[in-house]
Amino acid sequence: MIILDGKTVSQKILNEVKENVSKQERKPHLVVVLVGNDSASKIYVKNKQKAAWQTGIRSTVIEMPFDTEEQELLDKIEELNLRQDVTGILVQLPLPQHIDKNKVVTAISPKKDVDGFTPENVGRLAIGLEPYFYPATSQGVLMLLDEYNIPIEGKDVVVIGRSNIVGKPMVQMFLKRNATVTICHSYTHDLESKIKTADIVVSAVGKKIVRCKMVKNNSVIVDVGIFRDSDNHLTGDVDFDYVSDSVGFISPVPGGVGPMTIASLMFNSSKIYQ
Ligand code: NAP
Repeated sequence: MIILDGKTVSQKILNEVKENVSKQERKPHLVVVLVGNDSASKIYVKNKQKAAWQTGIRSTVIEMPFDTEEQELLDKIEELNLRQDVTGILVQLPLPQHIDKNKVVTAISPKKDVDGFTPENVGRLAIGLEPYFYPATSQGVLMLLDEYNIPIEGKDVVVIGRSNIVGKPMVQMFLKRNATVTICHSYTHDLESKIKTADIVVSAVGKKIVRCKMVKNNSVIVDVGIFRDSDNHLTGDVDFDYVSDSVGFISPVPGGVGPMTIASLMFNSSKIYQ
């Protein structure tokens, strides 16, 4: 069994981004908009800032209070869309409930949408056009598999979870690489039999769902899930200790997809379209 070491691979990607940024005449500038006081969001934003600093990408965080009105946020995004010195915009999710997330995401210019969540970028990916940006987590998963030379074409892939930010783009990206993809969710019957036939499993659920007898021998298991268990330890969707004996490759939590997402986001943030 080989560990898919996201920590090491992400460092390599960050170094490559740093080198590319150092050669760019016009430097990228990422603006992260954070609305409210969510403590997990604050940590994510700090980590993104740290990675931006490490790669030479200028980053600015705009903090807006929890009671910011939707229109105020939309106006801020419009201002950032128009600013020549801003090359990337990221609105940290989740947003307070009184703000319509879809309206906000749609307002971001697709050419500055480093998260790859706008309808134009999602649509481009779905119809086989090159999006300006690929969603960071899914792109990070493929970067990790590619680093270990894991073949994708023609493989049977099971993606568990169908969120807009992970599951759905993951499916599109595997299809683009000519895999045969099954997408599972909370209404899926007999998840176990589907996992059992998969060469590659990507789990993005947020609960312990992939257990030992489910997996195919020598398969590749990528754990996107990250949450705290009853002992307050960070853990993933996969029962690592039991599953790892029978698989070919497996990503740990922490130290797997998490750092890859940040590296992939910095890769996106180094691109300049306007
Ligand atoms: P989400 O929007 O809550 O989606 C969870 C998905 O899991 C849904 O599609 C849901 O199905 C499905 N699901 C729930 N219970 C299930 C079950 N028993 N069997 C099969 N599918 C089930 O979550 P998300 O935003 O995609 O995130 C998923 C996990 O990944 C979370 O732990 C999150 O923290 C983590 N994450 C990690 C990174 C990273 O960089 N490592 C990035 C993003 C997210 P329905 O659609 O039917 O409800």
